[in-house]
Amino acid sequence: TSPSRPQRLTILGATGSIGLSTLDVVARHPEDFEVYALTAHKNVRAMLSLCEKYRPEVAVMTDAQAGSELSAELNKRGIKTKVTVGSDALIEVAHDSTVDVVMAAIVGAAGLLPTLAAVKSGKRVLLANKEALVMSGQLFIDAVRESGAQLLPVDSEHNAIFQALPIAVQQDHGATLADHGIRKILLTGSGGPFRELPLDMLHTQGPEAACNHPNWSMGQKISVDSATMLNKGLEYIEARWLFNSQRAELDIVIHPQSVVHSMVQYCDGSVLAQLGQPDMRTPIAYCLGYPERLESGVASLEFPTLGALTFAAPDAARYPLLQLAIDACWAGQAATTTLNAANEVAVAAFLERRIQFGDIAKVCLAVMEQASFPAVHTIDEILALDHEARMLASKMLRV
Ligand code: NAD
Ligand code: MG
Repeated sequence: TSPSRPQRLTILGATGSIGLSTLDVVARHPEDFEVYALTAHKNVRAMLSLCEKYRPEVAVMTDAQAGSELSAELNKRGIKTKVTVGSDALIEVAHDSTVDVVMAAIVGAAGLLPTLAAVKSGKRVLLANKEALVMSGQLFIDAVRESGAQLLPVDSEHNAIFQALPIAVQQDHGATLADHGIRKILLTGSGGPFRELPLDMLHTQGPEAACNHPNWSMGQKISVDSATMLNKGLEYIEARWLFNSQRAELDIVIHPQSVVHSMVQYCDGSVLAQLGQPDMRTPIAYCLGYPERLESGVASLEFPTLGALTFAAPDAARYPLLQLAIDACWAGQAATTTLNAANEVAVAAFLERRIQFGDIAKVCLAVMEQASFPAVHTIDEILALDHEARMLASKMLRV
């Protein structure tokens, strides 16, 4: 049954890889969706072209200077989109009372507050911004349960797992997996661009090589995270919260072809997997249409031409950040908030060529060794901890 009117949509991080893929799917269904607000950090050119094409009611630029430039350009062209600026403006468009659906696709910690604002106002929240959940875990899930928001995972692995879960588990973030016959969640990961690189060459890889993912085209930060496999570590933490999983219920499997997007193993020996092209429009369309299916523009898988699908265990020596993230996951909230912050600082420094690839892990390991992990109960405490971890990581960069 389709809703009587188009769903009103806010896209946080509209100029990014996920934001653009979302708009591509939305444009295929003009009757079903209406773009209320688009947001970006400071890319005026990209936002201007989105405003020309999609005519949102509001465009948010978190950078104020970028906001005034956008405003001037829109005026020149007679486009009536209202421009607002700053991080409070993100929160406003996330919880605006006329909005039904919020795509949370800002990268990193900057997405936490607007994503939470969407959750607290009970929206359908399409979660791409995994860092928000990693930073705030229990608080985030509690907010979902209290507000009655509908949280749908966009991350391809979590979307695959979601699709393979019983409806009762899909609809209850506090369900006990074992009660539903679920033995394990199997997160697949390609192993990134350096899966077969000789280990002694790993340390000195640069941003171009790290961002050259074999299967997926993504933003820079997540591409680097895929090369270190901290991305899979963040996804492990994300899966723990989304699916209320215990330590023995979560495994990571290397699958270089990225065709199987993840799996759920049941107590009778069945394994349900979701397969598809490595194209984010599939999970995005699934979330936009749920529980219906929408045309996404993604080509069908052609099995006769696929060749072999292979699976292996991850190599601990190649991906030290993966185990660090798994340990942080079970050490508690402060550990995952701290690791996420340290990684964001290290990845930014790597992309600016201030450190080498191997230093990303070194910085994260050093921060995790030196940080203290107080109990955190509020978002303010989480933000304070995030800030401290960033200071500590920045200090490590200078030594
Ligand atoms: P991206 O770098 O391509 O885009 C990021 C977006 O966030 C841009 O619109 C940018 O303007 C905005 N942004 C950046 N910094 C900001 C700030 N400080 N304040 C406000 N806005 C800011 O990133 P992406 O690849 O689209 O990833 C977005 C999120 O989705 C990330 O959390 C990523 O882990 C997750 N994700 C991405 C993919 C993918 O295929 N790209 C897959 C799974 C999950
Ligand atoms: Mg993923």
